[in-house]
Amino acid sequence: MGVTAPALPLVDPPEVVALRGTVRAIGARYGHDYFVRTAREGGNPRELWRELGEAGLLGVNIAEEHGGGGAGIADLAVVTEELAATGVPLMLLALSPAVCATILGKHGTGAQRGRWLPGLASGETVMAFAITEPDAGSNAHRIRTTATRDGDDWVLDGSKYYVSHVDNAQAILVVARTGEVDDRGRGSLSLFVVESDAPGIGASPIPVEITSPERQFVLTFDGVRVPGSALVGEEGKGLGALFSGLNPERIGSAALLNGIARYALDKGARYAGEREVWGVPIGAHQAVAHPLAKAHVEVEAARLLTARAAALYDAGSPEAGGASSMAKYLAAEAAGHALDAAMQAHGGNGMATEYGLATLSGLVRLFRIAPVSEEMVLNHIAQHELGLPKSY
Ligand SMILES: Cc1cc2nc3c(=O)[nH]c(=O)nc-3n(C[C@H](O)[C@H](O)[C@H](O)COP(=O)(O)OP(=O)(O)OC[C@H]3O[C@@H](n4cnc5c(N)ncnc54)[C@H](O)[C@@H]3O)c2cc1C
Repeated sequence: MGVTAPALPLVDPPEVVALRGTVRAIGARYGHDYFVRTAREGGNPRELWRELGEAGLLGVNIAEEHGGGGAGIADLAVVTEELAATGVPLMLLALSPAVCATILGKHGTGAQRGRWLPGLASGETVMAFAITEPDAGSNAHRIRTTATRDGDDWVLDGSKYYVSHVDNAQAILVVARTGEVDDRGRGSLSLFVVESDAPGIGASPIPVEITSPERQFVLTFDGVRVPGSALVGEEGKGLGALFSGLNPERIGSAALLNGIARYALDKGARYAGEREVWGVPIGAHQAVAHPLAKAHVEVEAARLLTARAAALYDAGSPEAGGASSMAKYLAAEAAGHALDAAMQAHGGNGMATEYGLATLSGLVRLFRIAPVSEEMVLNHIAQHELGLPKSY
């Protein structure tokens, strides 16, 4: 079945300009200091999350009948980018609304949608997403966490690591194995919504060098019993459902990075235009200006690719997978260069907490590794876009 390719506007239509303005106004009231303070105090950005929810910004991609805005991932990417551009890059946006709400909206039962989506849209509910395991990172087919039928219930056993913001989540969307790996190496995976306080769940923090209010956890499941109604989608056919959420996660990550890059370049250019050490602004020296200019070009390309990926995803195009991976790849590169150029232009102040750049180093670096590593993206592109042999 063919999918009509969506027309991608080359400039923002008025409603997107307005959406950006709404997000920017909220983000600017909080700003990067709030982001850093919340992260370092071990807090959660609850008041900001609530405000975003009240303004209808957390549910832009959730169906109107469940309290959302009825739009798509393209709008959620705009919200994510614009908030990050104010210095408030919330990874949470690429997880709870992008991954969990999307999977539940597309594959959840009527009861699951009614139970979870209104809260996700309003911001009252936050959901974490748990797929990665110590022995099965890039290869999700090899996950060992099992879900076993017991009467009408399922019982989960196993462990996950690097699960973000578990301390701020009422529920976790867990990927588990419900059958053996087939002879093509494909796992029989199923998804379950598990309440965070279910008996048998353990969570211990993993210290990481990232300044972010989303903390990381090892999760253990020791005979965690969930009702049959917790299964999302079809038993053993979780891969399709999974990818309906993983592509938005990549698009959301790209959008987050594009916003961080804009924030950094804005700071870098302003500083380079004002700071004088030889009687002219340092930005008059091409060694300072060119890295900023180059990064700007890369960021604009990454923004276009991100918008294209989101439009393809929202249109249900099979090209969305490749486009989402490429958008995340390019955005991670571009944001890395943008942050680095902005820090370099700041000289010693580039390392100062006060200037709000070095605080983003860990977060920006993360996205060359997660949610999918750049090597795995290149593997995918080499194989599926260029037709090269599978390399692993
Ligand atoms: C801060 C943070 C937040 C995260 N949040 C979540 C979350 O909320 N939920 C969740 O489930 N997971 C989360 N993750 C996990 C993240 O998605 C994984 O770390 C990532 O997918 C890589 O898996 P891995 O760490 O096991 O690396 P591995 O799979 O062990 O890979 C290690 C290295 O080897 C490379 N490599 C592996 N296989 C190949 C190959 N075939 N060809 C070439 N190179 C290869 C990889 O690219 C990587 O560079 C998070 C991670 C971090 C650090």
